[in-house]
Amino acid sequence: MATSAFPSRKRVVLLGATGSIGENTLRVIAAHPDKLELVAIAARGNWEKLAAIARTHGVRHIGIFDDTAFAAARAHPSAFPADTRIVGGLAGLVELAQLPSADIVLVAVVGTTGLEPALAALRAGKDLALASKEILVLAGQHVLAAAAASGAQILPVDSEHNAVFQCLQGHPHSSVRRITLTASGGAFRDLPVEALGAVTPADAIKHPNWSMGPKITVDSATLANKGLELIEAQCLFGLRPEQCDAVLHPQSIVHAFVEFTDGAMLAQLGPPSMTFPIQHALLHPARAPGVEPALDFRKLLSLEFRPIDETRFPMLRLARETMIAGRGAPAVYNAANEIAVAAFLAHALPFLAIPRIVEHVLAQLSTVAPADLPAILALDLEARRLARRAIENHLF
Ligand code: MG
Repeated sequence: MATSAFPSRKRVVLLGATGSIGENTLRVIAAHPDKLELVAIAARGNWEKLAAIARTHGVRHIGIFDDTAFAAARAHPSAFPADTRIVGGLAGLVELAQLPSADIVLVAVVGTTGLEPALAALRAGKDLALASKEILVLAGQHVLAAAAASGAQILPVDSEHNAVFQCLQGHPHSSVRRITLTASGGAFRDLPVEALGAVTPADAIKHPNWSMGPKITVDSATLANKGLELIEAQCLFGLRPEQCDAVLHPQSIVHAFVEFTDGAMLAQLGPPSMTFPIQHALLHPARAPGVEPALDFRKLLSLEFRPIDETRFPMLRLARETMIAGRGAPAVYNAANEIAVAAFLAHALPFLAIPRIVEHVLAQLSTVAPADLPAILALDLEARRLARRAIENHLF
């Protein structure tokens, strides 16, 4: 509900409130009480944390995906503000995504769970601030079609896509020659290639620049994260595979470059903190002071760019092949990678076997062309099944 003191506040639904994107989003919203109002939050299972957020921000619509956690939250109504409505499961998240009192829905839930809520938000005409990678990777064309049909906007929250979005403002699509996303190179970028075979999950989750969850941190070390981002960018910005590139940039200060047909390049720079792209997506087209200090050229700042060796980072080569294959290949790449990373984190798969599992599953499923959303989700499950079987049978 917009109050009369702040008539033009954007009303935000935050799906994935308890993760690292969620926490940064809450910082942005708390810093701009005159511009942003949190109206609904959801998470997978941490209902106590949701209750704490609800009390701090006065939120009265809560979604809890996990059944057990949903039941536990309903058994503790006094933990939440008075008159709180708590909804459960995927249907609950979909309901919050279409909340009549909302203007923009930020989707930052892990995995494929965010897909249906994201589509529901766009169909209801809500702008979508998109942080979950799987949504465009799995169902890019469906998501773009839903936005086009309702006139809602997709505002990328991932720092690289947000950077491309900012650089593209005011430029016709036909003037873009290429985009280049930067990659920090993750935890092992300076490790000799011979040492990669012995790295452990504990080594992999120490990211040099960004503080994120374990899965995405492993994806940064294999560059699967960059691979997924290239697939997303190709879809979101309507580009051909060969127009989407990546470069190693250890400082994570430049987030992306856009090269135009005349050879000019625009870049977007900022400190490596998600509060910057989150704030941009939530306030767009307005701007306001950031919650963290900007770059400061009174301090020494060097920026370095190195070409990416795809023999060292096979997940990037596989992403390129995935973009060219199109159809169901991106969903397969994503699903097989998720299973392989989970196995690595569980000490059941060596680090260097992650791309081998993905390549193995892609080889079996890359020509499948799913006709609709249920077929995409079925392909996702089949890719997971084949990846698990490959890991169990030591096909790596
Ligand atoms: Mg990123």
